[in-house]
Amino acid sequence: MQRVCAMTSNISSPAFLDTSRPDTPDLVVPQGVVPFYLDNRPVRGRLVRPGVLTDTLLTRHDNPDCVLRLAGEALALVAALASALKFQGSFSLQAKGDGPLGLLLADCTDAGALRFHARSDDEAVAELLKANPNPTAADLLGKGYIAFSVDQGPDTDIHQGIVEISGQSLSEMAAHYFATSEQHACWVKLFCDKTEAGWRAGALVMEKIAMGGGIESDATPEEGDDAWETAITLATTLTAREVLDDRLGSADLLYRLFHAEGLITGQPRALAFGCRCSRARLSSLLETFPLDDLDHMAKDGTITMNCQFCNHDFHFQRSEISGKTA
Ligand SMILES: [Zn+2]
Repeated sequence: MQRVCAMTSNISSPAFLDTSRPDTPDLVVPQGVVPFYLDNRPVRGRLVRPGVLTDTLLTRHDNPDCVLRLAGEALALVAALASALKFQGSFSLQAKGDGPLGLLLADCTDAGALRFHARSDDEAVAELLKANPNPTAADLLGKGYIAFSVDQGPDTDIHQGIVEISGQSLSEMAAHYFATSEQHACWVKLFCDKTEAGWRAGALVMEKIAMGGGIESDATPEEGDDAWETAITLATTLTAREVLDDRLGSADLLYRLFHAEGLITGQPRALAFGCRCSRARLSSLLETFPLDDLDHMAKDGTITMNCQFCNHDFHFQRSEISGKTA
């Protein structure tokens, strides 16, 4: 399943043509998202398990483990929400606060390509850990806001919803967002931890659909409410140990939870390593810099640009870049 693409870093084509990213993994998890619904009940959902992709994404970053754990949850969450939407572009979560983790950004494209960036003050995180070895998302982020956005390209409007950070965990923060912004009830449970196999993450997200709207059902509204409550009760029994264990299939986990509730699973969707950086893009960015800045950035004739999403260093010869003449 894992395909690692390692290209040579011996660059021969000019910077503006060269799109190589030497050691960025080309990794696809075919059953990363399994959608499901409960027959004759107003419940639909997704179980997200990016598997080894979580480890690949998280271990490219130098953030402390407590920050990576939260980033893994954020990746599972955007994968769950993006796969429920019909759109072309990227779906992103951005959390900004005044805590040791000032910024957490995770996004997922319509094709399931995932990436994230976390900007943490690691000294402040170390201070926090002395007093509190298991900080919550709220401890890390502090006061601030959480925004969910759909970006469908340069000539389109960005659809964005913003709420104040409320709750201790990212699951609670997401639930608070849905409670204030969505028409229908949502239930969210996020998981991430370091296992024997490396970092693993997961998300179980359920929505209560309007009866008589999106689904065929002869149940009364009261029966629908009961079915929703039953689904939540069952979903709550899902443990981190189960979700983060690669040996258990997603369809089997859903069967364990909902086999008596008319479970029907849909077509699984793939998740992938999704950084969109390239030498060509960074090269054209560098070309917009004034000559003085380029000279200042060059060390021994080489300019190094780091992609904050995949933490890959791109090296350019100063002589390759013409820069902007005033
Ligand atoms: Zn990148």
